Amino acid sequence: MDFTVSEKMQAVVGMMNEFVGRELIPLEPEFLTKSFRQMEPVMEEKRQMVRQMELWAPNHPPEYGGMGLNLMDHALVSEALGRTPIGHYTFNCHAPDAGNIEILHKYGTDAQKERWLRPLIEGKIRSCFSMTEVELAGSNPVMMDTTAVKDGQDYVINGQKWYTTGADGAAFAIVMAVTNPEAAPHMRASMIIVPTGTPGFNLVRNIPVMGHSGDSLFSHGEILYQSCRVPQENLLGPEGWGFVIAQERLGPGRIHHCMRWLGICHRAFDLMCARASKRVISYDNKTLASKQIIQSWIAECAAEIQAARLMTLHAAWKIETLGVKEAREDIALIKFYVANVLQKVVDRALQVHGGLGMTDDTIIAFFFRHERAARIYDGADEVHKATVARRILKGYAGRDVR
Ligand SMILES: Cc1cc2nc3c(=O)[nH]c(=O)nc-3n(C[C@H](O)[C@H](O)[C@H](O)COP(=O)(O)OP(=O)(O)OC[C@H]3O[C@@H](n4cnc5c(N)ncnc54)[C@H](O)[C@@H]3O)c2cc1C
Repeated sequence: MDFTVSEKMQAVVGMMNEFVGRELIPLEPEFLTKSFRQMEPVMEEKRQMVRQMELWAPNHPPEYGGMGLNLMDHALVSEALGRTPIGHYTFNCHAPDAGNIEILHKYGTDAQKERWLRPLIEGKIRSCFSMTEVELAGSNPVMMDTTAVKDGQDYVINGQKWYTTGADGAAFAIVMAVTNPEAAPHMRASMIIVPTGTPGFNLVRNIPVMGHSGDSLFSHGEILYQSCRVPQENLLGPEGWGFVIAQERLGPGRIHHCMRWLGICHRAFDLMCARASKRVISYDNKTLASKQIIQSWIAECAAEIQAARLMTLHAAWKIETLGVKEAREDIALIKFYVANVLQKVVDRALQVHGGLGMTDDTIIAFFFRHERAARIYDGADEVHKATVARRILKGYAGRDVR
């Protein structure tokens, strides 16, 4: 595998890093104390600057105004933008819109693309993805209660979902609902586009997460679909293909997430090293950095960040060269490994900051609160570990090893 970064990508990532440091990190104190809705006017100014720099929608198709970067190149972008919670949104490559854009581009009809895909890539609207249900284990989403029943020219949707990230203020949801109850479990559900203004689309609440309900993109909605009627032309892809499409959405999405987490790791690591170097802990001017235990944490974090980064880039390379199916094991490995490195690095950074680490005077506490979820969404640690172990052990069944 060749780790050379092209000159073009060096320039792109350099410009993004510079923009994050100059324009976005200074906005974080505001981000941590205001609602995101209050932030939206200033965010729009920054987004306009990004459009003018021609760095808009880096991973999205050029025919709709994106940069059309491939997975490897976008991995580097995701790492650079991950250093701040507002990076991906400013460049219009944030979850869940990024995943929805990918599937709309691949499976949308021309009419769906004009109505939903174009304004999403232009950054005029937001969307959400509504799969997980309150009462059933999201880890095995084929167990699904939400139904979409045909009635005349329409589907009528009933069900209760939660953790529909960014539902608050989104223009539409892509909803997973059972359309073919008699089919095999993985072919029962379909994806259906539901405008959030449709009667029967009820945003019950933004779920409080670690003490914060959040708002707008930075929220997780509980949604009650009550006789929510949409035309059958809102079906996305073939009927019964919901899980097939969801799998496609998740493969590259995990690379984006892992590289974003590595961006967070770099930021937390920088803050940790800077704090350790300047925090004086005795009258003879010794700093925290002089303590062996802190040095040991720093060395461990540096090694684990590097390992996680190489694993993720390797998985991205494998997806690009061999396809998602061949890279399944690598994707499962990075999903739990990088999420745990992230948690360890953020925790160590917080610890080095002591009481300051618990405050919102640095970004670390925000990362600590919100990124704990990395070990749960897109497949909990245990599920990925079981997948990997089963595949490995299959190769040993009946094998005599000496
Ligand atoms: C911040 C955040 C954002 C999210 N955004 C979205 C979104 O936009 N759209 C959406 O549809 N969903 C979203 N989700 C939901 C997410 O996909 C689910 O939370 C996840 O799939 C786990 O499902 P669950 O919460 O029902 O946990 P469960 O399935 O009940 O699992 C609970 C725990 O049990 C363990 N476990 C589960 N299965 C196994 C197993 N087979 N073997 C061993 N242990 C197991 C794991 O430790 C797991 O954490 C989001 C979740 C979070 C936290």
